[in-house]
Amino acid sequence: MEKSIYQLPFTVLSAYRFLRRSQHWNAAQLEQYQDAQLRALVKHCASHVPYYRELFAQIGFNPANFRGRMDMEKLPLLDKEIVRNHKDQLLADNAADFGITWDSTGGSTGTPLHFALSNRSQAYKIAALLRSFGWAGYRLGNRVCSVQSYYFKKKPWQRVLRYNLLRFDSNQLSPTAIRHFLPELRRFLPRFIMGFPFDIFTIATTAVDEGTPLPRPQAIITYGESLSPQRREDLQNLWQCPIYDFYSLHEGSAMISQCEKGNYHCIDDFAVHEYIQAGDHTELIGTNLYNHTMPLLRYRIRDFVTPTSQPCPCGKPFPVVDNIVGKVCDHILTPDGRLLGSVMSHSMDNAAGVIASQCVQTAIDTVEIRLRTDSNYTQASRLALEAGLRKRLGSKMKLFFYQVDELEKRPSGKTPFIISKIGHTYH
Ligand SMILES: [Zn+2]
Repeated sequence: MEKSIYQLPFTVLSAYRFLRRSQHWNAAQLEQYQDAQLRALVKHCASHVPYYRELFAQIGFNPANFRGRMDMEKLPLLDKEIVRNHKDQLLADNAADFGITWDSTGGSTGTPLHFALSNRSQAYKIAALLRSFGWAGYRLGNRVCSVQSYYFKKKPWQRVLRYNLLRFDSNQLSPTAIRHFLPELRRFLPRFIMGFPFDIFTIATTAVDEGTPLPRPQAIITYGESLSPQRREDLQNLWQCPIYDFYSLHEGSAMISQCEKGNYHCIDDFAVHEYIQAGDHTELIGTNLYNHTMPLLRYRIRDFVTPTSQPCPCGKPFPVVDNIVGKVCDHILTPDGRLLGSVMSHSMDNAAGVIASQCVQTAIDTVEIRLRTDSNYTQASRLALEAGLRKRLGSKMKLFFYQVDELEKRPSGKTPFIISKIGHTYH
């Protein structure tokens, strides 16, 4: 089996065909597959990834003895800080063979991170996402209204006839923009609405305030921030349709999605998911199976889950978790009336020397940027940070930067990227 792993084709279509089959495997087949993929990945790390070559030597880890999931604990966890500081050493010396696409994220902790993805990991990500959306009834070509960050210059929405898409730009979310958007949405009659739950909720509540009837989609697929039980219930009542929640990371280290029975499944043929107890919380640890360009073994995501041994009646081999606490964001209200939440996290992508960050709105025209920094933080990083924030917050917002030792935490244990002191809190 080991030999054939590298021969798997990595186009989206073939990845999709493969994943369509693997969802019908039994648990033993899935485990066997994960073990084989992990053995190949660890072997590759030992031969081609400078960071791991050194680490394995240091801890006396012999990759030849590595059997798979049962030996994962022999490897240390990988912190975001290590990825931030060692991204060049984490890049495989033969990365070009796998394709190199650089990407960045602020994640749920406001930690700017740059990483590289292989062609195969990207193909598998799209394919796994399509399969998950398929559990909600979605098929390619269905009419979709998508609500996420687009940076449209003029109107807050755009029709893409070719893909049967109506796109709404989360950066422009305001009651005025929504009022103008509603007639377009009603004409379009989306079969699915996808995107940030808060934004989809706000579109509906604005319509209710206006006395405008909403279209009735077949389902809503949410992602990009944590969906609280309250928000799920509100969305169900407002839109009168089922809600399917989807969780993934830019880094590709984990993926969790709801099946047709409503349970959250860890997508174990995409990444290996582990759980570790950290105080009162269970942390999600992820290892993408396909990114040989920059392998991240046992990546510490800093999001929480509640694992359960309860099987799901859908029969899929993927383990179930009861709950995910990922990105938990309050919202910033801009002086021009826009409400910005998770869409803000990319503002931090290019700030060198920032370990973690937090935006705290203290008045309608004031945001404090609290930063945990290291010695790479300079005036240039502050300017890059300000440019990223201005792009979303506009020129009227006053921004104050503070370097701090600790960021504010929630009782849930999460350190939210946005905190509102003026009432626009996450719930
Ligand atoms: Zn299920």
